[in-house]
Amino acid sequence: MAGVKGNGAGEGFDEVFDVVVVGFGFAGGVTAIEAHDRGAKVLLVEKMPDPGGISICSHGAVCSTRKPDGAFAYLKATNAGRTPDPVLRALADGMTELEAYVRKLAEPLGAEFMIRDRGGNYPLPGEDSFYYTQITAIPNFDSAQVYPQVRGRPAGPMVFYMLQRNVADRGIDVRLSTPVRDLIRTPEREVTGVVIETPTGERRRIGARRGVVLACGGFEGDPEMQRQYWQLMPVFPAANRGNTGDGIRMSQALGAKLWHMWHFHGSYGFRHPDEKFFPFGIRVKRFPDWIPGKESRAVVQAPWILVDRKAKRFMNEFPPYVQDTGWREFEFFDPVTQSFPRIPAFLIFDEVGRRRFPMGNPAYNDRTMKFTWSRDNLKEVELGILKTDDTIAGLAKKLGLDPAALEATMERWNKMAAVKKDDDFGRPAGTIMKIQRPPFYAGEVWPVVSNTQGGPVHDAKQRIIDVDDKPIARLFAAGELGSSFGHLYLAGGNIAECFVTGRIAGREAASLPPLN
Ligand SMILES: Cc1cc2nc3c(=O)[nH]c(=O)nc-3n(C[C@H](O)[C@H](O)[C@H](O)COP(=O)(O)OP(=O)(O)OC[C@H]3O[C@@H](n4cnc5c(N)ncnc54)[C@H](O)[C@@H]3O)c2cc1C
Repeated sequence: MAGVKGNGAGEGFDEVFDVVVVGFGFAGGVTAIEAHDRGAKVLLVEKMPDPGGISICSHGAVCSTRKPDGAFAYLKATNAGRTPDPVLRALADGMTELEAYVRKLAEPLGAEFMIRDRGGNYPLPGEDSFYYTQITAIPNFDSAQVYPQVRGRPAGPMVFYMLQRNVADRGIDVRLSTPVRDLIRTPEREVTGVVIETPTGERRRIGARRGVVLACGGFEGDPEMQRQYWQLMPVFPAANRGNTGDGIRMSQALGAKLWHMWHFHGSYGFRHPDEKFFPFGIRVKRFPDWIPGKESRAVVQAPWILVDRKAKRFMNEFPPYVQDTGWREFEFFDPVTQSFPRIPAFLIFDEVGRRRFPMGNPAYNDRTMKFTWSRDNLKEVELGILKTDDTIAGLAKKLGLDPAALEATMERWNKMAAVKKDDDFGRPAGTIMKIQRPPFYAGEVWPVVSNTQGGPVHDAKQRIIDVDDKPIARLFAAGELGSSFGHLYLAGGNIAECFVTGRIAGREAASLPPLN
């Protein structure tokens, strides 16, 4: 079991640093930079052969604010009492510094910026408090050359490159393919170091004179933890197989309290065609978000509907923030049939939709994955990810659905689409289009997790808190490991959190008096 073996603090160390940072995504990079700049000798260890975590696959927009009170009010409303005020206050206050901070780190690279107004996702107090700080170009940086293992949005790699360059320029010791297996602590539970496994399989004891910061992400890549903490199953991960909840287990072994384990940021999507990567998912195409009460902003027509195994629609396919809450309607468990009738569900579209854009949106940070989604969706038909037929009844048979039921669903949908009014689930008019031109297409879709929010509880100083509500000495969390987002998510919020909490954790760890 992680966390408890090899714990003797008196056994001696193979190497000693001031601060050990576990995991090299955005949070780990920021933590290492901040601790180094406060005078600490830092070791940054990453389990996978390539750094970047899931951070590098992200949109890279750093949510920022000039109105900390408004930002706090919004975070408070969207967390519905599940995260204490001081933690949200620290996040809101930290967001006021992010534009300047990102500019400072990006300056040596000559990066170009875009500052983009972007409110919250829901009409709640403080909704107008946010904007994005976004890098739009870095001279001579070609993501495909530098990070050939990454598929995703272009800005994520630029932000990671900025951090990686800053880490390298400071001479911070970085070790890849080096998982942390254990935390070392005294009998009084003061954390004094970590046990790493080197690329040759050797275990080494690393001392941390000031502190250890766990920035090793969530449990997107751990199906067993997902089975235990989530009702719905299976849920497919979308980006990095390294995030297997190690930081959660290691901190639990020291008595950490957990929070937000049920909450994840995700959508629906397809199953990766190559069984070798199973379980792995491909998120459905991303559409612009819209705000409840401002449905007129939802202007992009989306060519599909979703049906369950009774061939019936069961949700508004375009909730305000599809990529965040898109999975939630899949959770229904039917005690009569003892099954999840919406897992998988079926995404149905026609020839007009097929020609419109790629339906899938792969994201990964993995050398062994090469899959890209074709522009015209035809490769996916060949691969069997999508099935096709000239008639709805024929398509239903191929999917194992009742043909008459699917025909009735399509007829009702097209009737509502003719008047742009979804009487059943209130999907915004601007997203609605008919599905009527053969051939017809369908793909199985499953819940897909982009990132988890659960993990150890932390306070406003990012100290990990135990089951007795006391900080575990010299142990910190940063990033999505034990994220503050406990109910509804804020677009760009996880990246903002990586920067804000990485800075706090790096600063706090570096400023502790050193152990002998
Ligand atoms: C496709 C996609 C798009 C997204 N878009 C956005 C967006 O636009 N805005 C936003 O705010 N958020 C977005 N997110 C979420 C956001 O990117 C993440 O929540 C955030 O970047 C997580 O950063 P992190 O540093 O905490 O974790 P990661 O970036 O996952 O880094 C954790 C690292 O720790 C390593 N690790 C794990 N265990 C160990 C161990 N035992 N020892 C050593 N290393 C270990 C992992 O391999 C990994 O590299 C997106 C996520 C995905 C998947």
